[in-house]
Amino acid sequence: MRYENKVTIITGGTKGIGEGCVRVFVDAGAKVVFCARNAAQGKELETEMNALGKGEATFIQCDVSKVEEIENLINATVAKYGRIDCLINNAGWHPPYHPIDEFSIEDFRSLLDLNLVSIFAACKFALPHIRKTTGNIINLSSLVGTMGQVYATTYVPTKGAIISLSKALAIDEAAHGVRVNCVSPGNIFTPLWQEGIDASPDPEKTLADGNAAQLLGRMGTIEEAGKMCLYIAAEATFSTGTDFLLTGGAELSYGRKSRIN
Ligand code: NAP
Repeated sequence: MRYENKVTIITGGTKGIGEGCVRVFVDAGAKVVFCARNAAQGKELETEMNALGKGEATFIQCDVSKVEEIENLINATVAKYGRIDCLINNAGWHPPYHPIDEFSIEDFRSLLDLNLVSIFAACKFALPHIRKTTGNIINLSSLVGTMGQVYATTYVPTKGAIISLSKALAIDEAAHGVRVNCVSPGNIFTPLWQEGIDASPDPEKTLADGNAAQLLGRMGTIEEAGKMCLYIAAEATFSTGTDFLLTGGAELSYGRKSRIN
């Protein structure tokens, strides 16, 4: 019960890394409010979590690319619990891989809204409450935000900017005792990764390449992602503005570089 009664908002909490965070934080005794677009999946996880007899879980339907829905998520949390201790901005999407010629300006703008503007908005609405608890914010970036990725000119800058935003906000919010950090996963096996496998011409090779990208020889799990976020929220009290790598060593040493897949 390392985070007992701490009110934690997790965006995109029904699947993948967000689901891992919901499971780990509820297990640690937190009162978790999580969102996604698919309400059926949200309600199912809510029921499962509340049956554990540890923390609490509340699902609220919210599309984070709609700012008014993010505002509602924050307001509904405060209406229910009267406080916010932690905000985990996790919801995001990686579109299929294309050269820049095949992405439209609108593709880029809408991904910026989903992956980046949503985080700015959630921080803005939640901070008046997080300052009162001297709580913390964790933003999900990506390793590719600093090292780049083939055919991902819309996704990569959204993730790079999350690191910059986290650092800028960490500077301002230190005066209020609020920590702002980000987590940069390499490859975590989630439904998003499965989407990539399904869309590839050679699914078996794509999965094998995904596992081989890490020195540890496998992808990370959603539980490992949840545990890193819990460590940052509950124990990393001297870390702010930090980009926590969750990569199994993917960025170490020289590797075989593909100019184009
Ligand atoms: P995922 O398996 O696709 O899960 C995404 C979650 O976010 C789902 O619960 C989804 O539910 C929700 N979501 C998607 N769009 C949303 C929206 N507009 N509003 C609200 N919720 C939304 O993704 P993941 O792999 O766990 O990735 C989570 C985060 O980690 C993303 O920001 C991603 O960029 C980052 N990341 C992942 C990896 C990796 O290897 N998996 C690596 C680096 C970074 P609904 O579809 O029902 O809305």
